[in-house]
Amino acid sequence: MPSNVHRGFSLNEPLIFETASEGRKGVEPAAFDVPAADASKSIPAGLLRSGNDALGGFPEVSEIDVVRHYTRLSQWNFGVDTGFYPLGSCTMKYNPKINESAAALEGFAHLHPYQPEELTQGALQLMYELEGYLAEISGMDGVTLQPSAGAQGELAGLLMIAAYFKAKGRPRHKIIIPDTAHGTNPASSALAGFKVVPVKSEGRGVVTAEAIAAIMDDDTAALMLTNPNTIGLFERNIKEIAKAVHKKGGIIYCDGANMNAIMGIMKLGELGVDVVQFNLHKTFSTPHGGGGPGSGPVGVKKALVPFLPRARIKKAGKRYRLVYDNPKSIGRVKAFYGNFGVMVKAYSYIRRMGAEGIRKAAVTAVLNANYIKESLKGTFHLPYDQPCMHECVFSDKTLTQYGVSTMDVAKRLIDYGYHPPTVYFPLVVHGSIMIEPTETETKATLDVFIETMKQIAEEAKTTPDLLHNAPSNTKVGRVDETRAAREPVLRWRP
Ligand SMILES: *Cc1c(COP(=O)(O)O)cnc(C)c1O
Repeated sequence: MPSNVHRGFSLNEPLIFETASEGRKGVEPAAFDVPAADASKSIPAGLLRSGNDALGGFPEVSEIDVVRHYTRLSQWNFGVDTGFYPLGSCTMKYNPKINESAAALEGFAHLHPYQPEELTQGALQLMYELEGYLAEISGMDGVTLQPSAGAQGELAGLLMIAAYFKAKGRPRHKIIIPDTAHGTNPASSALAGFKVVPVKSEGRGVVTAEAIAAIMDDDTAALMLTNPNTIGLFERNIKEIAKAVHKKGGIIYCDGANMNAIMGIMKLGELGVDVVQFNLHKTFSTPHGGGGPGSGPVGVKKALVPFLPRARIKKAGKRYRLVYDNPKSIGRVKAFYGNFGVMVKAYSYIRRMGAEGIRKAAVTAVLNANYIKESLKGTFHLPYDQPCMHECVFSDKTLTQYGVSTMDVAKRLIDYGYHPPTVYFPLVVHGSIMIEPTETETKATLDVFIETMKQIAEEAKTTPDLLHNAPSNTKVGRVDETRAAREPVLRWRP
């Protein structure tokens, strides 16, 4: 059978180049109604393309070939709209479609960043109010919406911290980072020019004030704390830790990407945090995971407000203005004002949820994670057996006796129609399996997932080969991930 004949739901989609046929066309433009210009007169010879060579190598296909090809390919994709996606640390929650409709409103979607202030009052108002909501949720005094991802928010926050100490005439050079921090934290610190000082969490998975006080000195600019941390635990000593850091004139940076567990319940600013970044694409409802636009706003306490990126939005009477006159600002960190579409979705989400809804989302996210943790802890090894926040971390410790690893479990879950959880992260747990169900999943969905995980643990004992060979229900089986990274094939060759 030729490869492009489809039977039912076919996974044998050929490359679009293979379906091409010479002379087939997608679109035929109307005949010119103006005389053809001689391109060689207006375009420099070196830049001129000749004849049909310009299209050489492109597949010649009809419009419906293209539509069907890409629609079928899109069905290979797994997303939150397809099924359960418990990817720890990533908060793959369902994104209500109403937020997409809001972002698609013409007045927002067709805005040009060079439009004058008089014509963009609505957008400026939305940004101004969103900054206010995020300041309220985090307990901060000022917010920038400019950074386009969590990691870029971290970098912006660290550059502000550096500028703060420089302005005092006493630059500091070190950042303390616990072993339970997100991997982007040390990377952002190094990028901002700091030296990273690691600190170990104690036996119960959190950092102690004593450990911090022991290494905090006059050259340490900040402690960078991921809270809740990457084991899904709340850094419960944060108030004492903040005291120890503030005593030496240091700053508390909180990686707030895991805000989904705490929003509406408590404010980081009230616990002593001075700088925090949000991940709007995680907590505040923007689909992510495919490298699409994100947004990593940063909130700061009063002392750091002068250093926020330029421009700031100010309200004077009923008018909103962009203010560039802030000499201490670290400048721009992104073209124009940030990823505006993501801001619209976050604004729409927050307005639709309201204060009570935001709190309830966090409470439900934590409840769902604890439900999974309690239901599976007799089946999988649970290294930190205590109440968790929005995610729980298991390991493969009880499975290795059958020759089964975390990777095998993750791949077998694909056979059962699930996106695997985050694996081998956090690094502090050997063979970790990090499950974040989020608040948008029903108990029924969680129950079926729990049953599936138990089934897989049983298979590990009785039929481990099923796991070693997984996934087997997919077009492509177990891939060589190292080779895919080291020797990627990025070009199609006929
Ligand atoms: C996702 C995440 C980040 C990085 O955010 P990006 O938007 O991917 O840059 C940083 N810290 C934590 C705790 C995260 O979960």
